[in-house]
Amino acid sequence: MRYISTRGQAPALNFEDVLLAGLATDGGLYVPENLPRFTQEEIASWAGLPYHELAFRVMRPFVTGSIPDADFKKILEETYGVFSHSAIAPLRQLNGNEWVLELFHGPTLAFKDFALQLLGRLLDYVLEKRGERVVIIGATSGDTGSAAIEGCKHCENVDIFILHPHKRVSQVQRRQMTTIFGENIHNIAIEGNFDDCQEMVKNSFADQSFLKGTRLVAVNSINWARIMAQIVYYFHAALQLGGPARSVSFSVPTGNFGDIFAGYLARNMGLPINQLIVATNRNDILHRFMSGNQYVKETLHATLSPSMDIMVSSNFERLLFDMHGRNGAALAGLMDSFKQGGGFSVEQERWTETRKLFDSLAVDDAQTCETIAEVYAQTGELLDPHTAIGVKAARECRRSLDIPMVILGTAHPVKFPEAVEKAGVGKALELPEHLADLFEREERCTVLANDLKAVQAFVSQHGNRGKPL
Ligand SMILES: *Cc1c(COP(=O)(O)O)cnc(C)c1O
Repeated sequence: MRYISTRGQAPALNFEDVLLAGLATDGGLYVPENLPRFTQEEIASWAGLPYHELAFRVMRPFVTGSIPDADFKKILEETYGVFSHSAIAPLRQLNGNEWVLELFHGPTLAFKDFALQLLGRLLDYVLEKRGERVVIIGATSGDTGSAAIEGCKHCENVDIFILHPHKRVSQVQRRQMTTIFGENIHNIAIEGNFDDCQEMVKNSFADQSFLKGTRLVAVNSINWARIMAQIVYYFHAALQLGGPARSVSFSVPTGNFGDIFAGYLARNMGLPINQLIVATNRNDILHRFMSGNQYVKETLHATLSPSMDIMVSSNFERLLFDMHGRNGAALAGLMDSFKQGGGFSVEQERWTETRKLFDSLAVDDAQTCETIAEVYAQTGELLDPHTAIGVKAARECRRSLDIPMVILGTAHPVKFPEAVEKAGVGKALELPEHLADLFEREERCTVLANDLKAVQAFVSQHGNRGKPL
């Protein structure tokens, strides 16, 4: 499989190189040159497969030529072996034909484990083969950092540095990062905000001289391997609900557009999906596009669903690329005008075509809490605020009651106690067994000034399993 850039100017890469690449050299994102397509018979024959075997069948075409089947199977079995629920991604019924796909049974209790547990293992496999080591530097406002650390903690060939804003992430989120020890794991609390952290990561990619030749790898959601891993659970859910003979709809709590883009790909690979709902919080750039064909940046608001607090959705470029007939030059122009601060609309036919599949809703904090309370009263299920936004959007935007509606359950409620408390359901939140002693564990973290040079010096001092690069 070859991968091409959405802006048409960077060289095509194979899977191995795409795994290690961040942005393409032309500033675009990598996408498969040709998407695999499965027949209905083929998809139907996968019903009842264990999750890792389904994962093998869905993802195999993407890694062909880079990872032999037997090795890939073994990696997948290990990856999904660490999940605490034997169904890996169980479906729970909320209402008539309405389901939550629980994606929070991984080590850090959010769906990001599905991709980052795999990414860590794939990186280590490829690096071992090449005899290389890499450094990962990532910024997090919460979920990504812990999932990346959990995914990389056993990697022999990776040193990981995660920057979070000092005193600005929740206790649970911080402890999920700082209580994982390893000579290749480095938590850095920056005396600044999340944007400062993200800026440092960006600047480190732009000038890598401080790494003395060691390669820098991105683990944010633009990494293709993360999207790839997320395609699998759309198949998994649909197969349990009568697919592919029957079509299924999905409502997806959305920030950077990675998760829902995976659903779009599943559909293009042959899975009958009737409707994809973009569920956003008050940071609603995608809802404004889907409802009014305007893609314009606005100020960032802090909400009760912080993992969706974004101004711009980086993966949306991948959909825009398809929307424009995969014309890299057209896309480069569009993204340029966006960067100049203009924002944009797309041609009416392109937008109308997109809306045949996508609907959207923006849900504010008050509605989020109402939905948590409503679903708890109806079913006894306690939703996290992100999932609640998905449920609200599903109920508002649903086109057909005859088609099963699946809401992606992106996080466990225990990660977001503030929203649950505000919803007033009065149920005590309990950490799952493997995290029960989280608040007693020792923490390890370095606090650094909001200063790029200090952070880069720290990385070059510790980037080789705690020793200097
Ligand atoms: C990351 C995240 C999201 C948003 O996913 P995207 O792929 O960025 O759209 C939603 N919910 C939770 C809990 C998350 O951690």
